[in-house]
Amino acid sequence: MTFRLHNTLTRSLEPVPTPESGPLLLYTCGPTVHGRAHIGNLRTFVAEDCLRRHLESKGQAVRHVMNITDVDDKILAKARDAGSSLAAFTAPFVEAFHGDLARLNVRPAHAYPRATAYIEPMIELVRRLQGRGVTYAVDGSVYFRVDAFPAYGRLAGLDVAGLRAGGSGRVDADEYEVKEHVRDFVLWKAAHPQDVASWPSPYGRGRPGWHLECSTIAMAELAETIDLHCGGVDLIFPHHENEIAQSEAATGRPFVRHWLHTEHLQVAGAKMAKSLGNLVTLSELEAQGADPLTVRFYLLTGAHYRKKLHFRAQDLAGAQEALGRLAGFWRRCAAIAQAGGPAQGQAADDPLGGLAATARQRFEQALDDDLDVPGGIAAAFDLVRDGNRLLDRGEAGPAGAAAAAAALAAVDDILACIRPTADQQLDDGPLTPTARELIDRREAARRRGDYAAADRLRVELRALGIALEDQPQGTRWRRVG
Ligand code: AMP
Ligand code: ZN
Repeated sequence: MTFRLHNTLTRSLEPVPTPESGPLLLYTCGPTVHGRAHIGNLRTFVAEDCLRRHLESKGQAVRHVMNITDVDDKILAKARDAGSSLAAFTAPFVEAFHGDLARLNVRPAHAYPRATAYIEPMIELVRRLQGRGVTYAVDGSVYFRVDAFPAYGRLAGLDVAGLRAGGSGRVDADEYEVKEHVRDFVLWKAAHPQDVASWPSPYGRGRPGWHLECSTIAMAELAETIDLHCGGVDLIFPHHENEIAQSEAATGRPFVRHWLHTEHLQVAGAKMAKSLGNLVTLSELEAQGADPLTVRFYLLTGAHYRKKLHFRAQDLAGAQEALGRLAGFWRRCAAIAQAGGPAQGQAADDPLGGLAATARQRFEQALDDDLDVPGGIAAAFDLVRDGNRLLDRGEAGPAGAAAAAAALAAVDDILACIRPTADQQLDDGPLTPTARELIDRREAARRRGDYAAADRLRVELRALGIALEDQPQGTRWRRVG
């Protein structure tokens, strides 16, 4: 494939791996559902969506799995404090997460397996590792012995001997003081008497370690060797390093062919993080008047995915203006193309046709070069500026306009926000909050496969005079009598 991506494992640009048969297997680490996802998390999920869309736009079939971490120490503690069962505590956050993704026009993964639905296969993986002699048990918890896996540290580029516990901070949540070595990590964690949930196992009641969850789900839902595995840079160590150790120690095969990590969204110089209390959620931005598609555009174009993006709320106004320019040009061209007329000729003879072809090619080349969205979008803006000039001077006709609209449609296969913004500009007035909420709830129902609920919500919306159309780029609405 002409598409080259940075591989964290080799620290170099490499062609995206192509599967020998079947779809490309893509695993993306999903959210930990003890609160609303913040726009930092969403930056990662939107970047992963861009990756998937670019692969699919090139004709590469993809099977995409994203786990939902619905058990860990923090979730258990918060559920206990709330006096809730684990399932009741996490359900609204899972639903809100799907709503966020839908409003950001993220293509749904083919499966969203929850950790709590995979306890048996996780225990099975611990058993397998036990059989390989790489584990030890202390007081009902089972640990992975890092010394038993010589390749440990390769992904993160770490000197194993010098490793300290800490990493992303998440490691602490999974640690007990009884490990033989500080870098060993827990596979199965003994239950605490106050835990609101625990599961029986050969080692006693407990719960799986966070890393074990992703290894198990990726292997169960995809394969023992997967093509692409993604997450934010905070997951490189220890999470992904530990996933590799467990999976490869169990199977004796490479776990992942290509690792992709996205840089963080920052606020005032610090990573946006649940633990730092500097969160901004998509709903908060919407309450301040931001359109989710503008947020998507901002997250994708604000910086290359391997660069930090420094969030400032005022930058959304610039993003809205820029997206509006793209959408306005798209509408202008679509209208001219549709009107046709005597000037209709070949796109090749129309100067706008030439500009459109160049923009399209530059955009694809930029995306092929490690998903360079900012570089690609610059090509689209050149088309808008020069194309508007040609149209203003009457130097371009319907064929050129059609080619320009088609070029923007190709850009929007990946950006997935220009055309819906242009359509929204055409909608006759904003949605009422009730209609907006019903549309979001229906989208969430559709994503979790609850088609009966989705159909009921469609009927409710129809009664409000809103008709829905499900399209590959998401659900669109229009007013009906
Ligand atoms: P979590 O819900 O904490 O498990 O994180 C879900 C995803 O969001 C993971 O891929 C993280 O690496 C990613 N993530 C967390 N914080 C940020 C941030 N500030 N910017 C970008 N991605 C993030
Ligand atoms: Zn994971």
